[in-house]
Amino acid sequence: MKNIAVIGAGTMGNGIAHVFAQKGFNVNLVDAQAAALDKAITTITKNIDRQITKGIVSEDDKQRMLQHIACYDIIELGVSQADLVIEAATENSSIKKNIFSTIDQYAPAHCILASNTSSISIAELASATKRPQLVIGMHFMNPVPVMKLVEIINGAQTAKEVTETIVSLTKDIDKIPCVVKDFPGFIANRILMPMINEAIYALSEGVSDAATIDQIMKLGMAHPMGPLQLADYIGLDVCKNILGIMQEGFNNTKYAPCPLLIKMVEAGKLGIKSGEGFYKY
Ligand code: NAD
Repeated sequence: MKNIAVIGAGTMGNGIAHVFAQKGFNVNLVDAQAAALDKAITTITKNIDRQITKGIVSEDDKQRMLQHIACYDIIELGVSQADLVIEAATENSSIKKNIFSTIDQYAPAHCILASNTSSISIAELASATKRPQLVIGMHFMNPVPVMKLVEIINGAQTAKEVTETIVSLTKDIDKIPCVVKDFPGFIANRILMPMINEAIYALSEGVSDAATIDQIMKLGMAHPMGPLQLADYIGLDVCKNILGIMQEGFNNTKYAPCPLLIKMVEAGKLGIKSGEGFYKY
């Protein structure tokens, strides 16, 4: 496996491109918005500089890593030589199914199609392709260059060899794979999102302010970051979408996004990426 295409150059896509470029893979980074590609390269450069300061990579590595990333705003071109495509576009099933259908038409026949989805069914994404046995979930954590976990999700038809290949590739990029089944939210978000949603309810009911809620969870549960700050990192729109998908997938209102979360997303307060969420940035 040499050529990786990453679809979506947002928060996750730029991190995934960074990690594969660091390990010497050729990465084609694809986004429908040219501005997102520019922003991604700026972010990757900044994050490599941070790695240089920490002694993780050298100045020479920086040039090599950046040379390994090519940007495309057309999927058809970006995936034509890929051995693996990792889709990291907006968390919306119709957007992702359209992308999977396009990739399926233009990627080589042997190419594995992975999604970084947080909660959408892998079987559903696979159904948009003619190669469901080659479709798998590869759920990285944010920030990708730092976080070790990759949740690997087997769809209903994912071939055993494909899972083995992706587990082995995950280890090759110094991450730790955990294989799970295809249920809404998988494991990470099925447990994380109800906690974030509950913290937002506590805030909206005035039980305490954001900083105190986060402090309680940090000190009391030894979490490195409180749930509201974490929601700002993830993106409030992403949190709302994941909760909505779990609510629909389990047909259970216990996952319904808190009205305050919906209101904040409607107001454009999306967390770090928009400059304001539960905190100002
Ligand atoms: P984001 O909003 O930061 O970026 C999404 C990018 O996808 C945008 O740049 C957008 O222009 C692009 N895009 C949308 N439609 C496209 C199309 N048709 N073709 C090409 N590009 C397209 O989102 P994100 O936070 O990076 O999330 C991406 C995926 O990763 C989602 O599935 C999300 O659930 C998942 N995820 C997010 C996090 C997180 O912490 N943010 C963590 C794990 C997984």
